Amino acid sequence: MNDNSELKLNNGSRIGVIGGGPAGSFFSHFLLRQARLMDMDLHVDIYESRDFLSAGPKGCNMCAGVISESLVQALSIEGINLPTSVVQRGIDSYVMHSETETVTIRTPSEEMRIATVHRGSGPKGIRETRWKSFDRHLLEIAIETGANLVSRRVKGISLSDGKPLICAKEGEAQVYDLLVGATGINSPSLSLFENLGIGYKRPSTRKTSITELPLGLDAVSEKFGSSMHVFLLDLEGLDFAAFIPKGEFVTMCLIGDGVSRETVDSFLDHPSVKHLLPNARSAAAEACHCSPNISLGDAANPFGDRVVMIGDSGVSRLNKDGVGSAYRTAKAAAKTAIFEGISSDDFRKHYWPICRKISRDNRLGSLIFTTVNMMKGAQFSVRGSLRMCQKEQLKQGGQRRMSMVFWDMFTGSAPYREVFMRTLHPFFFSRLAWEVAMGFRFAGDGGSMVRRELWK
Ligand SMILES: Cc1cc2nc3c(=O)[nH]c(=O)nc-3n(C[C@H](O)[C@H](O)[C@H](O)COP(=O)(O)OP(=O)(O)OC[C@H]3O[C@@H](n4cnc5c(N)ncnc54)[C@H](O)[C@@H]3O)c2cc1C
Repeated sequence: MNDNSELKLNNGSRIGVIGGGPAGSFFSHFLLRQARLMDMDLHVDIYESRDFLSAGPKGCNMCAGVISESLVQALSIEGINLPTSVVQRGIDSYVMHSETETVTIRTPSEEMRIATVHRGSGPKGIRETRWKSFDRHLLEIAIETGANLVSRRVKGISLSDGKPLICAKEGEAQVYDLLVGATGINSPSLSLFENLGIGYKRPSTRKTSITELPLGLDAVSEKFGSSMHVFLLDLEGLDFAAFIPKGEFVTMCLIGDGVSRETVDSFLDHPSVKHLLPNARSAAAEACHCSPNISLGDAANPFGDRVVMIGDSGVSRLNKDGVGSAYRTAKAAAKTAIFEGISSDDFRKHYWPICRKISRDNRLGSLIFTTVNMMKGAQFSVRGSLRMCQKEQLKQGGQRRMSMVFWDMFTGSAPYREVFMRTLHPFFFSRLAWEVAMGFRFAGDGGSMVRRELWK
């Protein structure tokens, strides 16, 4: 049993971070930065098995690669800038596609504050790497702050006399004062933490699909420019579908409860998709693709004495802005470790409230996504919502109520609570009811599969 007074970081304390994705890099950077303020000298090892400088699966932490407005801003306040060598495109608008209509929603601020990136050095088969890996960029920031990169896979962890031990491939076991789990949700190493005896249980997940369509720089610029395309289609097993333009590639991201090869094919064959990208199916045939898991929420007991789990392996935002929640949980855990202590109680009192806030917000997010899914089953209501968006585009930012709801929901730029509160406004509700009624009438008029550009 540990004496809680001993469970503090001191000069010379050793911290082992497993995972050098966003959560591990943010944690190491903030911990070392705050330690410096306290005149404390810490030793931080980041264990990372991927080489983010490699193209293809070897260097990639499978993701759609949208860095939310709120995260770009928060990082800039922290002094962490995303250079043009990392950001492949700034996004200033969303094009939403229903079964029959298309509407463009422009950013309420008219600025391009959403960034699209590749997490590694580009998809398999890339000929020239023009943009730098986002994860490598963050890792370098952590290294510059003083972290030590150990480029090895961790194969074992244990507690010996209450202190964590990390055993990496081809290395001797190392003793640490604090063990940080930043392994993400797709790592087999999660079971190491589940067997550590702190009561940790990984979050539940579901399968997704990512395909990197190699369209070429000119075609991406011409067809997509600075717009992301989101599809509100009534396809079984599909909750969210989007095309995200990068430099020479467009990332196709599908999320749903049953995303399978058949779901991908039926999406690519859908008239709305073919209308936008007639060659999508052939482009997808040979493209770099993966089917990673996405987190559905929270882990149980993501901390213990001298152990804390952050990012996806702790608590993550539902469907959106996972990198943003990696930043928030990493920073909160680092602050707790430096200023409060590293006991289970310290993490429960000072780290867990941030996780709980994300978790509560996810419940509202889940409600919002369920409602949107129900609407997709009745396309006249999607049509009504899009018509409402279209009419709002000439109004001032604050009055674009439906556009703001969709914008924040798809960009992950605001908490789901804010999105939900916007839908409670009486003007929102009455306007939506009217437009849905009109959408129903339009359907009755023979709302055909003729694609109409409501706003461009
Ligand atoms: C389909 C899909 C689309 C997404 N789109 C977006 C998006 O557009 N925007 C967004 O913000 N989020 C998105 N996310 C979520 C985002 O990818 C995650 O929330 C984010 O990557 C979490 O960061 P992390 O550092 O916790 O974990 P990860 O990014 O998974 O990093 C974990 C790291 O740990 C390393 N590791 C694991 N085990 C070991 C070990 N034993 N030894 C050494 N190293 C190890 C891995 O190699 C990896 O580098 C998406 C996720 C999915 C599945």
